[in-house]
Amino acid sequence: MVKDPVCGMEIAKEKAAAHKEHEGKTYYFCSASCRDKFTASPQDYTQKEAGEDAHKGHGGCC
Ligand SMILES: [Zn+2]
Repeated sequence: MVKDPVCGMEIAKEKAAAHKEHEGKTYYFCSASCRDKFTASPQDYTQKEAGEDAHKGHGGCC
């Protein structure tokens, strides 16, 4: 399963309606309209994801 970065829906790769490569990573989308939103401003979705990861990595230490 992969996550559609635009709407957050989990989809099976083979059932994804669309996909797009961005900075060496392939993103999968539930619909072409989600892909279009991502294409219009990928940083809106990729930065959000990275930010969440950074937050998790920080843990609860401080
Ligand atoms: Zn979607």
